[in-house]
Amino acid sequence: MRIARFSIDGNVAFGAVEGDKPDELVLDIIKGIPFADFELSGTKVPLDKVRLLPPVLPNKVVAYGRNYAEHARELGNEVPDTPFAFFKPSTSVIGSGDDIQYPSFSEELHHEAELAVVIGRMCREVPRERVKDVILGYTCANDITARDVQKREKQWARAKGFDTSCPLGPWIETDLTPSAIGEGLTIQLTVNGEQRQLGRTSEMIHSIEDLIVNITEAMTLLPGDVILTGTPAGVGPLTVGDEVAVTIEGIGTLTNKVVKRG
Ligand code: MG
Repeated sequence: MRIARFSIDGNVAFGAVEGDKPDELVLDIIKGIPFADFELSGTKVPLDKVRLLPPVLPNKVVAYGRNYAEHARELGNEVPDTPFAFFKPSTSVIGSGDDIQYPSFSEELHHEAELAVVIGRMCREVPRERVKDVILGYTCANDITARDVQKREKQWARAKGFDTSCPLGPWIETDLTPSAIGEGLTIQLTVNGEQRQLGRTSEMIHSIEDLIVNITEAMTLLPGDVILTGTPAGVGPLTVGDEVAVTIEGIGTLTNKVVKRG
């Protein structure tokens, strides 16, 4: 099932996305929230009549760095033996169709296409064999990075945590499994229709299981928390006016435009 979050007539709701043709998708409004047992209401609205919101409002986004060897090398970094994580704040999250605001303190904004894991239940110290039980589903992410600031500043809070630096969406796909992802889904990023990044999730150094075990050793994850799993090679600059799109096989396409911060 594909679960979208959207606003309609001033109300926020979740809906199950039905249909195959991109311009004929329909939302069946969910009674309740997707983090508990829920029912479909049978009330349907065309997706193009609503505004999509970020599919979740995470308490925290935990992002992993250098999880694709070729990407680590393209920036001149070593491939880490153990996973390493950083945070993106909840205020960095935007949805598909929202604008990425180019921050005033950077002159080198980069895109990073990533698979995002959405946590479905409160958990900590999750053993490998239980990882699939704590995942609600998967969505597309773009780990927008002020590369010049990242190089200058030891901690990445500003470089990777500024407002609008975490586009998520368009919706959560709940039918994928960690093993399907380990076998490899295509992850692709285009800027103004031109391909910039192309990889497969099977190229991840540390698997979904490794990452969830690693982070829950340290902290409790809450329903709606998001894990970013690293970017394949091909990262590069964005400029004001660009349209950037992340497409992951079996999930969908996350599209955002870059604007000057007003
Ligand atoms: Mg990243």
